[in-house]
Amino acid sequence: MIMSAHTLLCAGSGRSAESGVEAAFPMDCASRDCHAHLQEYSCEELPAVMERARSAGIRRVDCCSEGPWDWDAISGICAGYPEAVPGYGVHPWYAGRAEAEFRGWEQVLREKLSCRPDAFVGEAGLDARRGDVSVQRGVLDRQLRIAADLGRAVNLHCAGAWGKLFDAVSPYAPKLGGVVLHSPSMSAEMAERFLKLGAVFSFGRRLLCPASLKIRELIRKIPEGRVFFESDMPSGPEYGPWTVVCLAERAAELRGCCG
Ligand SMILES: [Zn+2]
Repeated sequence: MIMSAHTLLCAGSGRSAESGVEAAFPMDCASRDCHAHLQEYSCEELPAVMERARSAGIRRVDCCSEGPWDWDAISGICAGYPEAVPGYGVHPWYAGRAEAEFRGWEQVLREKLSCRPDAFVGEAGLDARRGDVSVQRGVLDRQLRIAADLGRAVNLHCAGAWGKLFDAVSPYAPKLGGVVLHSPSMSAEMAERFLKLGAVFSFGRRLLCPASLKIRELIRKIPEGRVFFESDMPSGPEYGPWTVVCLAERAAELRGCCG
């Protein structure tokens, strides 16, 4: 459950000069939504969403795809909004579908990435709670190889398989343009391993939930410059890329708690 008082406090707010965010993290983390799905908004909704994000000071939105079926939509959105950066990838939940219905997706992925030098690979990853992890691993490996070949960043989803994800990513890490870990619910020990790979951590709305002790503990252990925030899937009119500002403020408070 999200803290309603905090949500209210942040609803429609821009960045507060007194927030302390600047002191706790580089300002960039409060102006970048590191993991969004703008294609989930309707054509009618999207202009207002992007306008509100701009008003809140959001200067970059990393727009992740789910599979080859939404890559063209993402290209179109990112062509229309300069702050939106396209991510092309196969989400682990849909690895089987991509393999069955979109044979040759790897070549299309390379072509899509080649059209935009700033495009990244994502959303990719592993999810032990949904789908066949061995199929996911094959699909992830091919995406990592393409990202490494082109020197692109990867935006990664993981649930219940952080060790396996680490094993998959680490051989490619030196050639990747960056590793973004979406919603990083992992142990401090695992976070330490990913930090050594150069990964950054993208925290979402669970940070606002007092019951999410693991996440709130973890963010205190990640060094400045490696913490970012995300809106992820749209879920109600009060959430969107501007939620990042609220998350950055909450993170600064949590870091203040541990001195
Ligand atoms: Zn996502």
